[in-house]
Amino acid sequence: MDFKLNEPQEGIKKVAREFALKEFPGRARECDLNEEFPKDIWKKECEQGFVAVYIPQEYNGAGLGYLDQCIIVAEQTKVDPGLGMIPVGVALGAEVVMVFGSAEQKEKYLSKIPTGENISCIAITEPGAGSDVAGIKTTAKKDGDEYVLNGDKMFITNGTIADWSIVLAITDPDVLNPHKRFSTFIVDAGSEGFEAKKIEGKMGMRASDTAEILLNDVRVPEENMAGKRGRGFYNIMEFFNRSRIYIGAQALGLAEGALELAMEYTRDREAFGKPLAEHQGIQFELAEMKLRVEASRNLTCKAAWEMDNGIDNIMDVALAKWYAGEAAVKNCDQSLQMHGGYGYINDMDIERFYRAAKVLEIYEGAKHIEKSVVARRLLR
Ligand SMILES: Cc1cc2nc3c(=O)[nH]c(=O)nc-3n(C[C@H](O)[C@H](O)[C@H](O)COP(=O)(O)OP(=O)(O)OC[C@H]3O[C@@H](n4cnc5c(N)ncnc54)[C@H](O)[C@@H]3O)c2cc1C
Repeated sequence: MDFKLNEPQEGIKKVAREFALKEFPGRARECDLNEEFPKDIWKKECEQGFVAVYIPQEYNGAGLGYLDQCIIVAEQTKVDPGLGMIPVGVALGAEVVMVFGSAEQKEKYLSKIPTGENISCIAITEPGAGSDVAGIKTTAKKDGDEYVLNGDKMFITNGTIADWSIVLAITDPDVLNPHKRFSTFIVDAGSEGFEAKKIEGKMGMRASDTAEILLNDVRVPEENMAGKRGRGFYNIMEFFNRSRIYIGAQALGLAEGALELAMEYTRDREAFGKPLAEHQGIQFELAEMKLRVEASRNLTCKAAWEMDNGIDNIMDVALAKWYAGEAAVKNCDQSLQMHGGYGYINDMDIERFYRAAKVLEIYEGAKHIEKSVVARRLLR
């Protein structure tokens, strides 16, 4: 068993961190306050080759693995959670095309993600169904050589800035097995009847765009079905099993970033005649935070390594995302506590980290869903 990053991975870690330290500090707070997605930073992330590195080289990707992607996301999220998610956030849904799409779809859609020509999104959640994916109501009815989509999608990351979206819809409502009623489609955001409305007022991750997407008689050519008809639910489960790995990496970065902020602050701030970091109570808490960081790292890197090596990792992905999400929330809470009143004011980084962390326990499968995945695997 080898826990050491290899030389190229050490290199990726170094350049990802240097990039974030150069580009993020001047912009992070302003993007968060203004709820602004920084297109210039996205373009630079693409130029540096950090975006969706798991996309194969023949489609302009780096042809690297999930472990490499996790290293990038964790290093950048350590510096800022909202901007650190850009390398994977702008490619949400691309995996559905990468794993299930046709060669034409990959050429037309996937290959434009690493180059920065396109941003993608994935529209699964609806106002009435989130965790219960099979409870969605959006329909796709066949009409000649097109499908006509109608429905309402909620909380869609990149909704107003994406060029195309993977959309989950019901194509076969009468099939007995409820999981075989769905298909996934690639929908151009410029299609008639496709309307995205920005959702404002998020608690955190405010540099990331979130929208409601309304589909009103959107006509999609049948060649835009991604994967086979009736396999949409399973396509989404495969997508989650991949995306949850880098959400684990986001959580790891957040947990470690919160620890770094705590160490920096408690070394400088004095109370009762000595720096906070010299009080044993604070030292014990720093140690607890470090424990969570290392446990998150091991779980997340293991799940990513398993993905890269074709090993069944469904339980490990669920464990990683669940644990690392909780670790991020707890570390941010302890770190903010150590900052005292200053931590509660928004010119301190920890305030932004604290607000960002909670969503890691909610999106891409809320933590109860991760627990049920683990329990199902244990008991089957
Ligand atoms: C910032 C942000 C970005 C997002 N981006 C996207 C996106 O790009 N695409 C997309 O499709 N969706 C996106 N989502 C939606 C997100 O995936 C859902 O919010 C999430 O899946 C939970 O669904 P819900 O909000 O409907 O909550 P619900 O499903 O109603 O769940 C509410 C609570 O009940 C718990 N719960 C649910 N079922 C059970 C159960 N059986 N047992 C025990 N507890 C249970 C959940 O864990 C949760 O805590 C995003 C959400 C946010 C906040």
